[in-house]
Amino acid sequence: RKVLIVGGVAGGATTAARLRRLDEDAHIVMFERDAYISFANCGLPYYIGDSIKERSKLLVQTPEAMYQRFNIDIRTESEVVELRPDTQTVLVRSKERGEYEESYDALILSPGARPIRPNLPGIDSPRVHTLRNIPDTDRIKARVVQEKVQSAIVIGGGFIGIEMAENLRDIGLDVTLIEGGPQILAPFDPEMSAELAKELEEQGVKLLMSQTVTSFQDVDNRIMVQTASGDALTSDIVILAIGVAPDTAFLKDSGLELGPRGHIIVDDHLKTNLDQVYAVGDAVEVVDFVNGSKTAIPLAGPANKQGRIAADNVCGLSTSYKGSQGTSIIKVFGLTGAATGNNEKILQRLGLPYHVSYIHPNSHAAYYPGATPLSLKLLFDDQGKVLGAQAVGYDGVDKRIDDIATVIRFRGNVTDLTELELAYAPPYSSAKDPVNMAGYTAE
Ligand code: FAD
Repeated sequence: RKVLIVGGVAGGATTAARLRRLDEDAHIVMFERDAYISFANCGLPYYIGDSIKERSKLLVQTPEAMYQRFNIDIRTESEVVELRPDTQTVLVRSKERGEYEESYDALILSPGARPIRPNLPGIDSPRVHTLRNIPDTDRIKARVVQEKVQSAIVIGGGFIGIEMAENLRDIGLDVTLIEGGPQILAPFDPEMSAELAKELEEQGVKLLMSQTVTSFQDVDNRIMVQTASGDALTSDIVILAIGVAPDTAFLKDSGLELGPRGHIIVDDHLKTNLDQVYAVGDAVEVVDFVNGSKTAIPLAGPANKQGRIAADNVCGLSTSYKGSQGTSIIKVFGLTGAATGNNEKILQRLGLPYHVSYIHPNSHAAYYPGATPLSLKLLFDDQGKVLGAQAVGYDGVDKRIDDIATVIRFRGNVTDLTELELAYAPPYSSAKDPVNMAGYTAE
């Protein structure tokens, strides 16, 4: 059996490893457009901010190591430019080998998503950076270090924008963040997001909310950013992080079914409409695990899980993907924000009924030193079924959201939250953990 994989990072590399475990004899070829495979996308901002000191730590796997360990035929700097389902082949454009066709018995697509670059005047300035991969990171790091830049404008208050704002601030830059909407960090509802925004401001990040950028202009080794409200701001570097779009342009005329925004449509076995073609990761449309609607959730956890499932299905194991619930977490200087499931904005948009409860417990027993308050918001339906949760605080935010994420996965209700028996000693929690308390308050 010959299996081709398009994309060599989160979804692609997981798929390759799982395929090899399931089938010792398959010929597995992994194509990657760039020079690097299986790197730590999620670590890139922290390398720019010097929390991760060594560049080599970002390279989780090298082509050589992956070949040695899994016997995968890895072809870097090799872009798949066309899918030809009639002949079960792909057309590859390789730096080394030129253009050639490769045939498949099964094909798994994991091309990911690319940063959105709107068609604005001056956007092609070399001072406007986006961040997706190692070459992007090297370019940003080179500019920041070699030119000793002092100021940055970050456009977009999503996860990558906020992580970049924090990391650039950490290395001493004067940072302004411009957000087009009325709040940062869409997975949170406005009142929870406001706590995170306050922390950003307290740490010296200037926030400009509800401002749209209209153009860029290079001015004497600096860059000027113009906004719709008429403001003009100047800085040494711009990080553009206004979201991502599926990297699926090469599939357009292949007969592969794509959604309205270019996402690959898959069934619960992650199979596309084409024979023997599967797709995973940021490029696919998924089912929202809570409400069953179609959505896209570009996160590493889902991409990895889907890679494993697609490999199972190629090997005949019949495994299904049950949907994504968008569990996510972000460090904003000293604070942590985490969320899982649906927020109020989603439930309102879909017209779904819900109830809300808030609690503000301590992260652990108040009498033990170091306890800090956290805000925990719970959303549940008329029957008490848990629909979502958001938490913001200095400590213990991650485990509370992970507990609730688990209850949501098992379609649990608020009584289940009260019944969870969670680890307790004074340095860690309270005899009634915040998650129990959230259940009691909601009951
Ligand atoms: P990718 O990992 O992007 O891999 C796709 C690969 O396919 C790319 O390397 C691309 O070059 C290649 N490719 C595309 N088209 C072709 C083609 N035609 N031929 C050959 N190769 C092709 N997620 C989290 O859950 N938590 C985080 O903290 C987090 N932080 C992040 C920080 C940053 C800066 C970034 C950029 C992303 C972060 N993510 C995070 C998102 C996470 O990295 C993605 O969800 C995940 O990598 C998606 O995996 P994927 O395989 O779909 O795509």
